[in-house]
Amino acid sequence: MSDLDTARRDLVIANRILAHQGVVDAYGHVSIRHPLNPERFLLSRSRSPELVEERDVMEFTLDGKVVGDDRRPPYLERFIHGGIYEARPDVNAVVHSHAEETLPFGITKVPLKPVIHVASSIGPSVPVWDIAEKFGDDTNLLVVNTDQGRDLARRLGQGRVALMRGHGFAAAGATIQDVVRLSVYLPVNARVLTAAMRLGEYKPLSPGEIEGRGAFNPKAPESWRAWEYWARRAGVSQLLGEMP
Ligand SMILES: [Zn+2]
Repeated sequence: MSDLDTARRDLVIANRILAHQGVVDAYGHVSIRHPLNPERFLLSRSRSPELVEERDVMEFTLDGKVVGDDRRPPYLERFIHGGIYEARPDVNAVVHSHAEETLPFGITKVPLKPVIHVASSIGPSVPVWDIAEKFGDDTNLLVVNTDQGRDLARRLGQGRVALMRGHGFAAAGATIQDVVRLSVYLPVNARVLTAAMRLGEYKPLSPGEIEGRGAFNPKAPESWRAWEYWARRAGVSQLLGEMP
């Protein structure tokens, strides 16, 4: 199987996992950088992630233009993906979600901090991007052009995830397995933190605990374990390749 075939297949698996895990619903999306051309990325046509198949995958330049004469309607918010790929050569996959559990942290002053070990990769505190800061109070809050995508990428900085006020989050990963894992556990972390704050004071992970987990290795058995499990539960285990 070619690298491009593998990327398309992994993209379908990622769509199905994120839908099955409730990270995305009818909206939200996941992309992967083109494995042969870093100036392009792969993203489904405008379709709900739970329904995405390999034939839905379209190709885009980093400024969100469709490659070729593919006339199918793309996602309006593809500029989130292009903006992050342009700013971050280390990023090879991006998720955009409207996960409800994360939304309170985008509209209050309460920082979204990691409080459980599986969410250590979100970093010490998740920055919030407020579209109104640069684009005013009259947008529909969606990221619909290159300027907005680049502005969001600036707020993300060198981090892994940024909240989007009143909207959701954008997450970045070195691999698609990495960003899917983060996107599954970010809402779980938000839920636990919200519950903890109701009880009283809480203790987030320390800087050492955040660093201690080290970089994600998609070929490690524990990484494959989650990817395989989620894919099977999402009904796409037939797309899984060999265990690394
Ligand atoms: Zn959105």
